[in-house]
Amino acid sequence: MSTDNSTAGNAPKTTNFIHQIIEDDLNSSNPPAKIVTRFPPEPNGYLHIGHAKSICLNFGTAEKYNGVCNLRFDDTNPEKESQEYIDAIKKDISWLGFEWHEEVKYTSSYFQQLYLWAVHLIEQGNAYICDLDSEQARTYRGDFTTPGKNSPYRDRSVTENLALFARMKDGEFAEGSCSLRAKIDMKSSNMNLRDPMLYRILNVDHHQTGDKWCIYPIYDFAHGQSDALEGITHSICTLEFEGHRPLYEWFIENLPVPATPRQYEFSRLEINYTVTSKRKLKQLVDEKMVSGWDDPRMPTISGMRRRGFTAAAIRRFCEMVGVTRSNGVVDVGMLESAVRDDLEQNARRAMCVVDPLKVTISNFAEDNTQMLSLAVHPKLPMGDRELPFSRNLWIEKQDFSEDTSLGRKKFKRLVIGDYVRLRGAYVIKADSVIKDDSGEVVEILASLVPDTVGANPPAEFKPRGVIHWVSADHAVPCELHIYDRLFTDAAPDKHKEKSFLELINPDSLRVIERAWAEPSLKNAQVEMGYQFERTGYFVADAQSSAAKLVFNQTLPLRESKAK
Ligand code: ATP
Ligand code: MG
Repeated sequence: MSTDNSTAGNAPKTTNFIHQIIEDDLNSSNPPAKIVTRFPPEPNGYLHIGHAKSICLNFGTAEKYNGVCNLRFDDTNPEKESQEYIDAIKKDISWLGFEWHEEVKYTSSYFQQLYLWAVHLIEQGNAYICDLDSEQARTYRGDFTTPGKNSPYRDRSVTENLALFARMKDGEFAEGSCSLRAKIDMKSSNMNLRDPMLYRILNVDHHQTGDKWCIYPIYDFAHGQSDALEGITHSICTLEFEGHRPLYEWFIENLPVPATPRQYEFSRLEINYTVTSKRKLKQLVDEKMVSGWDDPRMPTISGMRRRGFTAAAIRRFCEMVGVTRSNGVVDVGMLESAVRDDLEQNARRAMCVVDPLKVTISNFAEDNTQMLSLAVHPKLPMGDRELPFSRNLWIEKQDFSEDTSLGRKKFKRLVIGDYVRLRGAYVIKADSVIKDDSGEVVEILASLVPDTVGANPPAEFKPRGVIHWVSADHAVPCELHIYDRLFTDAAPDKHKEKSFLELINPDSLRVIERAWAEPSLKNAQVEMGYQFERTGYFVADAQSSAAKLVFNQTLPLRESKAK
């Protein structure tokens, strides 16, 4: 089934430029003993579809070359991080079907080593304590057209710097009053090399290290050294870090690190009608535009899971978009089509009537119930489901027309005097209708053609088509949540004059409070995907229960033409 969680076989079948680099390395005169990659999320939010691409790349590449992939929480910003995010990230990676190597790693577990390496840089004359405040530091830094100026504190002696750094660590200074900076080149054309900050004072507790530290390393100083400590061979990140690579390499060259990892960049995944920035997704959650990080409209892995997207489909999509160094926006339809392909092949079938119209089978006894048996899946060996048939049925309102002049080809559903097959049950004929005072049809009186369950009727009873139905005496009520894109705009966060929050689709969630499901759906389990025949792909919501069944529409059966 599609919720396959085994790790075997998740290696990409396609190749890309990163794989080419690895193959060249493996074929070189000095090949790495083992390919080691890492996925380094900051635990400051839930993972989204962009992270899925990075996960598939890092874990998939390791698997492809019989290597390993570490999960390392890049936890250098304790103010924004939390255990909730750590737990959610671990769950999402496992759900996608990947297994990290050994225990989960944390950058924070290297804080002591990083501190000693910062001391090493000071001792070598490669770092200094700077007392410029952030505003001043910005001015000194210059910009793309103006070279920076040296900090007035740049020439402090090694002894003074060591003493100040120790005092910084001991909590003697206020936040923002000083920082440790690398001494590289204030005139470099690469802004990242203009004496970048290595450590700042932050008087906050950390979710892993408690109150042990009041100075925290900057991402750039922590990342490459953590890679080196873990023996990462290929440190794969997104293109915005390209300009940081010289700094990454400067640290590796200037520190006695145990290994020499290399950084490689690929382009971020961007999808139209979607925002893929943790900060913006957090805003949607904080401002209650959605019900939470796992709202089925969110492009988070947890949201997509709740929506009924499968891990296999997400992995397939990531493979389809490929790995390159050129930026581009992927059509969200591509993700949806990967999900549809998977569900079409693998989802269980069931029937649910959304907008019910009563049908009474006049030649079926009131007190009779006939148990029919229908395959859960037309092709896969998923067993059968029991389907009760009775005198009182629900069919879809739109599956009946009073217009008897409609041709058989044009309207393959029910009209007075003609036949349709009820899926998995009898061929029936509509005989007459009952209307209410306003003239609306409220009930169809019909008769069944005997012996037509699983058998073709004689030619004169040939049905116009097949429609879905449930027994009104046995059907279970359920609530349906029908989703549309969260944004009405193809590039919601690319407008200068408008916030993406103003571009939310007001119809992104429509609730159908009462639909009628076949009784087997009482057993629907969370994350188990269904194709409600002729209605759409659905999945039981995380909050669905036997007392109140709630299904999320994963996707309509077919892509809508109207965009
Ligand atoms: P965001 O911008 O959404 O906050 P981030 O890069 O800050 O994302 P991290 O937790 O640092 O989030 O990301 C972990 C890894 O996932 C990084 O290696 C990052 O490059 C990668 N990643 C993040 N977003 C994308 C994306 N849209 N496409 C591909 N990889 C991504
Ligand atoms: Mg990041």
